[in-house]
Amino acid sequence: MGGLEKKKLKVAVIGAGVAGLSCAVELERHGLSPVVFEQRPRPGELFEHCAAVLRLYSRPYDPLAQLREEFRLELRPISRIKKITMKSFRKKVTVKGNLGYLFLRGQARDSVESQLFAKIKSGITADTRADYLDLSKKFDYVVVANGSYDAGRTEGIWSPVIRTKVVGGSVVGKFDPEELVMWVDTRYSRTSYAYLAPFWEKRAFLGLVVPDSSVEEARRHWKLFWEIEQHPFEQVSEVVVEHNAGFVYPHQVGNILFAGVAGGFQEPFLGFGLIPAAKSGTLAGRAVATGRRYEDLLAQLKKDTEHSLVFREMINKAKNDDYDMLLGIISVPGLKQAIYNTNLDVLRIAAAAAGRLKGLIRRFKSG
Ligand SMILES: Cc1cc2nc3c(=O)[nH]c(=O)nc-3n(C[C@H](O)[C@H](O)[C@H](O)COP(=O)(O)OP(=O)(O)OC[C@H]3O[C@@H](n4cnc5c(N)ncnc54)[C@H](O)[C@@H]3O)c2cc1C
Repeated sequence: MGGLEKKKLKVAVIGAGVAGLSCAVELERHGLSPVVFEQRPRPGELFEHCAAVLRLYSRPYDPLAQLREEFRLELRPISRIKKITMKSFRKKVTVKGNLGYLFLRGQARDSVESQLFAKIKSGITADTRADYLDLSKKFDYVVVANGSYDAGRTEGIWSPVIRTKVVGGSVVGKFDPEELVMWVDTRYSRTSYAYLAPFWEKRAFLGLVVPDSSVEEARRHWKLFWEIEQHPFEQVSEVVVEHNAGFVYPHQVGNILFAGVAGGFQEPFLGFGLIPAAKSGTLAGRAVATGRRYEDLLAQLKKDTEHSLVFREMINKAKNDDYDMLLGIISVPGLKQAIYNTNLDVLRIAAAAAGRLKGLIRRFKSG
């Protein structure tokens, strides 16, 4: 595509979140000037929290090196995860190694959104709630990166996988800035989990993910979580947000492309979506700018997301005894080493071993 043609291409991006901003970075790299609509006054969630990115998910690659090399996106974490402690009803396992990264989220200067925002020249059209159908008539392309399933559901391309509420907040106390703590206990987290991710030594984000619950139920579970675990911290802020994962196909309808959560790029096992949002946003921008088929560019990312559907399905009926057994298994020294401290793609291997991938994907595609 020639330079003149590129300039003429009008592209709207809905959402200045991780996917939308990554998309804008890629579009600008190809000489385009997208209009990025953001409903908030500036990029970034209103509450500050800390997002974990686990190396386990991107094996055999390091997630940040891969982002840098394949997607030309440089993101700075606030720290490395050197230790993960997992607690179930009766068991506790600690693993050590180069396990991943912690990222600041929100509107602070070092947050992921601020880092991405600093990379774009076009700026954003803030305080503007965009309508994708309206924009699709006015622009050559619209990239829906609004972190929601609404447009996908309207288009009939979204199948829900898991709906959760995350209840949490900042806590003050004494923390190891390189340690991620996770709790699995059906009494308060049902088939999901709770986690503690430190910003630094004296402040952390404590979150509880509760599937299929109202805000009131999520708050009741949060209270129970504190009562059962007897946390020695002080809570200084509180937030309850929806956090949903779904399966999306196809990822483009006419001139509308779906990226990030809106495109189903949030893995349904732990609800992680930072890296998939950055990758899918970049690929949406690449598809628009180069004329390549978005669905083809997404091939690897779709595979990466699919195997975690298998884990979500397996864990959907888990009881506390199952979690105890799971933690017992992964604390076996050789296995623990293979899971956390090698380059083996254990998630994919385990998913394949479950032997249910094909059937599941067929079900989600037809559902
Ligand atoms: C509490 C919590 C903890 C999480 N922890 C982790 C973690 O530890 N690790 C991890 O990998 N992932 C984590 N995630 C998931 C991760 O945050 C998301 O997957 C990721 O942010 C998705 O990026 P996105 O760009 O699709 O959506 P978002 O980042 O949500 O961005 C969407 C943007 O669109 C804007 N918007 C929405 N509608 C409109 C509209 N109509 N017009 C204009 N603007 C609009 C929103 O204001 C927002 O700025 C967590 C999520 C939550 C809620």
